[in-house]
Amino acid sequence: MQLYKNQELKIYNSLSGKKEVFKPINEGHIGMYVCGPTVYSNVHLGNVRTFMSFDMVFRYLKHLGYKVRYVRNITDAGHLESDADVGEDKISKKARLEQIEPMEVVQMYTVDFHNILNTLNFLPPSIEPTATGHIIEQIELIKSIIDNGFAYEVNGSVYFDVHKFNETNEYGKLSKRKLEDLIHNTRTLDGQSDKKNPQDFALWKKAEPVHIMRWPSPWGDGFPGWHLECTAMSTKYLGETFDIHGGGMDLKFPHHECEIAQNEAAIGKSPVNYWMHANMLELNGQRMAKSTGNTINPHELLSGNNDKMSKAYSPNVIRFFMAQSSYRSVLDLTDEGLKASEKGFLKLMEAMNTLSKLQASDNSNGLDINSWKQKCYDAMNDDFNSPVLIAELFNAVKYINQVKDGKAAINASDLELLTNTLHAFVFDVLGLKNSGSSGEDTTDKLSDTVEVLIKLRAEARANKDFALSDKIRDELAAIGIQLKDGKDGTTFSTN
Ligand code: AMP
Ligand code: ZN
Repeated sequence: MQLYKNQELKIYNSLSGKKEVFKPINEGHIGMYVCGPTVYSNVHLGNVRTFMSFDMVFRYLKHLGYKVRYVRNITDAGHLESDADVGEDKISKKARLEQIEPMEVVQMYTVDFHNILNTLNFLPPSIEPTATGHIIEQIELIKSIIDNGFAYEVNGSVYFDVHKFNETNEYGKLSKRKLEDLIHNTRTLDGQSDKKNPQDFALWKKAEPVHIMRWPSPWGDGFPGWHLECTAMSTKYLGETFDIHGGGMDLKFPHHECEIAQNEAAIGKSPVNYWMHANMLELNGQRMAKSTGNTINPHELLSGNNDKMSKAYSPNVIRFFMAQSSYRSVLDLTDEGLKASEKGFLKLMEAMNTLSKLQASDNSNGLDINSWKQKCYDAMNDDFNSPVLIAELFNAVKYINQVKDGKAAINASDLELLTNTLHAFVFDVLGLKNSGSSGEDTTDKLSDTVEVLIKLRAEARANKDFALSDKIRDELAAIGIQLKDGKDGTTFSTN
């Protein structure tokens, strides 16, 4: 069904800084590109949040009836440790430290990434191309940029000439930076003397003899600059200009700015009509980052095996938690927040189960289902405002409970409309799974059962029956449930 014909979707475009009415290039079709992970380590929950935001965007666009070609790449070469084109390639470094092949690193973390995304009920993208699979396209792109006078070769490396580009184009228009300010703020780093100006960025880097990941090129053996792969792959699969490009806020500069520059320099066209940026995930009020140790990976959150949360949280609860805030707001991951989301999610599921058992009356009163349904669309049409959508879903929950208690009524056609709409938004758009069918109910019951055993163990200890309390702990440990005694009581985790 082409629902999009009756809905006006607005998207906040980072380029204009405004919400704009969305109009695809080809009616009914959408091309969307999202920068994927650099597969040199386990994906963390911050990455997951960004990809989940775009999973929801993909789901809603599909729900509206668009044919979406969603391209999300895998960065398996070219991403250096520093944005200033210095340092080792992240994947090569990992391979060197672990004494394995770079492609083993890539395989290991690509598998981990897919596992996590499957567990969290992501839809797979339409195409998932890799940087190493598109070296030829990247070399061709560099040739065009050189031919058009916007890049230069020095000692086997090729750099993008930002100053030359800025004479005819506007470098910095996405991240709202001016080249003059960048000039004042860039420090000249050692080892960058090949560049005409420190603002220039690498399109191709010469591979030193120790560099393992290398390809032949017209400029000698080397490897592509990180920004180039996204331009090469988005152009190949979505065309010279396409509808939506997404990524985390931190990619706006330099990565996305450089993508725009490369496209304009090679093809003379701006690549993207709507730039979307997802905001960052924090952990207990601080930016989640591996360098500070303020991080939690999805496995740890799902198993409860961590020292930051009091218990394990299910995939549905994690999804629900993330959908409760707008993709453009900073989101703080906390135990209290997750607990509140768990309650909310269970309440929603309970109402959906109640809904399936409601009896229709002759008339409806209590909620105008048609206008409620449009409010759900209005929320998502307003730049994918999922927290407002969830507030609307809870208006339906309230109504369902009133009908159950005989305080409101619903007729047969409204019952069908309410059921279909709730299913569409809860399952298709938000990507939640019915707790009954996913086994979540059983998981919750098991978790309650362990809580009962924890209480019995506390009673045994209070009665100085240490033989019994140890037995409870050891037998739970034998089936993979670890009890942790802390100052606020006992918690458990599974492995
Ligand atoms: P990377 O693997 O580092 O290239 O990052 C993959 C994606 O995750 C990018 O879109 C980043 O912007 C995003 N990302 C990284 N850290 C965070 C964070 N703390 N919160 C949200 N997104 C993040
Ligand atoms: Zn990218």
